[in-house]
Amino acid sequence: MPKPPRRGPRKMFRPQPGERWICAKCGGEIEELPFIPSSNRPVYHRECLPPRP
Ligand SMILES: [Zn+2]
Repeated sequence: MPKPPRRGPRKMFRPQPGERWICAKCGGEIEELPFIPSSNRPVYHRECLPPRP
């Protein structure tokens, strides 16, 4: 059976009050992400994401 296409709005997460997500590339604040970042990993704006090999 073919899988249904996974489209449509994705759930987006925002930082908790007092928490800040800072882009590791441009240093700007990130308002929302499609996942919850772990504190020991860098996060990026979508347009700042390093290209995948
Ligand atoms: Zn950025």
